[in-house]
Amino acid sequence: MKGFTTKILNTELPKKDPYGSIHIPIYDNVAFEFESSKEISEAFLGRINRHVYSRISNPTVEYFEKRIKVLTDSLGVLALSSGMAAISNLILTVVGAGDNIVCTKYIFGNTYSLFSYTLKKFNIEARFVDPQNHEEIERAIDDKTRLIFLESITNPQLIVSDFEKITKIAKNKNILLVVDTTATPPPIFKAKDFGIDVEIISSTKFISAGATSIGGLIIDYGTYNWGNNPYLKEYYKKFGPYTLLSKLRNEVYRNLGACLSPHNAFLQSLGLETIHLRVEKACKNALFIANYLNYIDIIKNVRYPGLESFPDYNLAIKYFPVYQGSILTFELPTKEKCFSFMDNLKIIRKSTNINDNRSLIIHPATTIFSEYDENDRLKLGVTNTTIRLSVGIEDVEDLIEDINNSLKKI
Ligand SMILES: *Cc1c(COP(=O)(O)O)cnc(C)c1O
Repeated sequence: MKGFTTKILNTELPKKDPYGSIHIPIYDNVAFEFESSKEISEAFLGRINRHVYSRISNPTVEYFEKRIKVLTDSLGVLALSSGMAAISNLILTVVGAGDNIVCTKYIFGNTYSLFSYTLKKFNIEARFVDPQNHEEIERAIDDKTRLIFLESITNPQLIVSDFEKITKIAKNKNILLVVDTTATPPPIFKAKDFGIDVEIISSTKFISAGATSIGGLIIDYGTYNWGNNPYLKEYYKKFGPYTLLSKLRNEVYRNLGACLSPHNAFLQSLGLETIHLRVEKACKNALFIANYLNYIDIIKNVRYPGLESFPDYNLAIKYFPVYQGSILTFELPTKEKCFSFMDNLKIIRKSTNINDNRSLIIHPATTIFSEYDENDRLKLGVTNTTIRLSVGIEDVEDLIEDINNSLKKI
């Protein structure tokens, strides 16, 4: 078995390139030509495996999917136009009107909005639970529950769930377990080792190699019996473990049209070639900065999953043994001091993204949580003095100097 980056760099091209190109070319075409009417008919009937139209499949996108499949050792992968497209395509495939989903209440804002408002119109109920309260999860499940939805490290609360305990609950009740691992993509977390059925990743973040493009992934580990799902039962008879991936490709993904563009697939595939290096640098920087901030008097409540003082440290080390992500939070005495600190920074930028090559800082209460009222915000652990820092791959001494210089001025 080869190492992580070796595997990526040696993922075989689907066909030998006529010019010997080492990279997969960007196949920026819509349609594919066939030799005969019989051949095109067979392709439409699914009797031969060919690209027909790039909204359904495309060689550059397929190669990106193959690399993800190789490095996650999964059954199959679907690449989509965004992380939100991955989540919505999955939900619309496995959930129907009158059903419910059980999901963590600490959840990415747009996912929260999708689950609470958009899906509600289709009579799909989201039951928000505390992911650390396993009884609450069990109580929320009934015979209309189609899936449990978690995030690997929530943001900005940085809560780590006990995946093994929740996997047991899901398996006992035959419920699909879906985890959004955007904050901990490979090589940080091996979802396959912990009983997760379907992994969702926004490849916009770490994978895109520094915020080059938007994209999303649905990764199926082949562990869920799709015969348990009322909408997939029939498909299951024909497709077995490939039920979800086939239903998406042949219907939901094709019909909703949220395909990844070949350009973005190329950028993100390139991102995979260096992801190990970038994750290592960013996570090392994050741990260094978290330790450093812990010793500064004016800074309180430094939270980073790799700090021994972190409440879920044992879980974090179990699931993310080498790198614990690149996001940390801390507090300054007042909101004004938070703003002043952020405004005086010269290298760390004020921006909403995470896992960029650059370090990005944000005041969640007045930005990504500004749609919530203060009470709801506090329940979600977002105070008026919380700052979130997504640490990049800059030279760490420059980041420390930037922080020190800014603190002097607040
Ligand atoms: C960014 C993000 C998403 C959405 O991804 P997009 O590619 O922006 O659509 C979903 N979940 C988490 C945890 C994220 O950080």
